[in-house]
Amino acid sequence: MDTFAHGAISMLAASRSGLPGLKHDGCRSGWKDWTLWAALAFGTLPDLTSFGVYFVQRIVSGNFTPGKPDLTEIPQYVFTAYDVSHSLVVAAAAGILIGIFVRCCLLPYLAWPLHILCDIPTHSADFFATPVFWPVSQWHFDGWAFSAYPLLIVGYWGAVVLLFAWRMLYPKVRERARRPREDAHE
Ligand SMILES: [Zn+2]
Repeated sequence: MDTFAHGAISMLAASRSGLPGLKHDGCRSGWKDWTLWAALAFGTLPDLTSFGVYFVQRIVSGNFTPGKPDLTEIPQYVFTAYDVSHSLVVAAAAGILIGIFVRCCLLPYLAWPLHILCDIPTHSADFFATPVFWPVSQWHFDGWAFSAYPLLIVGYWGAVVLLFAWRMLYPKVRERARRPREDAHE
């Protein structure tokens, strides 16, 4: 899955102003909600700390060319960073520490394992399959690379737009449904 979609899904699924906010009345802090930005950070860091660093390196060194780089050109540190940041084992260990020491970050933290779960089916064995159980096991699922299937990109971005519309419209629909009942009580 592309990093922009990861960011959007993280903000929707792992922040108080996103979908979890629908459970609570009055949780409409919008852009001022710090969990929105923390979810964005947790949800994009797995890619930014691996591909992101390499992307900046290629621009700075003047070697940037658009498109997918050749696997043989990619430095080892990118593979290592990708293993660490895309492992559910590492994410679970970090989640335990966050749960103990900074409990308030647990909701936005969930964007990290969510990122990994979204990457499992959208990466193939040909290019950075998701190392779910690293370092315990090298097992990976040979999925469908999103870069090779444009319909997959349309599908997950369609899901993002639908979830965003639900987040924005549901409180208004609920409010409208509640109003006649309250008027009847007066
Ligand atoms: Zn990723």
